[in-house]
Amino acid sequence: MSLPAFHDSHCHQPGDATGGFVIALECEPSFPGTFNNREIGRFHDPGRGRIAIPYLGAHSELEGRVVKYHPRFEGYDPARLDSDIRRFGRRLVLIDTLNALHWSPRAYRELAQEHPDVAFVMCHAGGYDVLEFVKMCRFLPNVWLDFSVTWHEFGWVSGVPRLPFVADLIDHALSERRIAPRLLFGSDYPLLEQSDALMRLVAAVDDPQPFLTGNFERLLDTVALG
Ligand SMILES: [Zn+2]
Repeated sequence: MSLPAFHDSHCHQPGDATGGFVIALECEPSFPGTFNNREIGRFHDPGRGRIAIPYLGAHSELEGRVVKYHPRFEGYDPARLDSDIRRFGRRLVLIDTLNALHWSPRAYRELAQEHPDVAFVMCHAGGYDVLEFVKMCRFLPNVWLDFSVTWHEFGWVSGVPRLPFVADLIDHALSERRIAPRLLFGSDYPLLEQSDALMRLVAAVDDPQPFLTGNFERLLDTVALG
């Protein structure tokens, strides 16, 4: 099976993707096949649309206009991220949003509203809170989504929807003209495979190109990366 060309907006090593966000992890113990802030630079190649993204640990400090936040792993609260974004002049912020218990969808939304010039990629589109994140993307022009993990967990990728509401919502988002331009293909590779989600996406829409490469490239233009 040959895969179409694609950028992976959420991976921890590139796999088969030409470009994308290759995101560091600094967790202990580390996940096999992932890289920390020191190691991730080997993948950085803006010329081909491949951007290494450093990860902010709970007790660390990080320079730079691009960062990945992980409230669920690191426990930081919204006020910390609000001041971090200001202090370091962040331009592009990736935030894990998967089933956070101590962050409400509202906390993510207020951060995006507070920083309209910063692009926010809401990684995983919220898990159980997916409706709130699709709504956020619809109304806030600086909010972008990837459905990684969520589209596996709720059965959209498998084609056997275990929770049809979520599968229908993902289909809705992919065809909604005010949402679709800010949806990115993300896999969470190598924690999950790229090919099954990719082929499901290609089968789901008439023109997969925006989701595979176009939207991602526009995001890089928006934040003047790449
Ligand atoms: Zn991930």
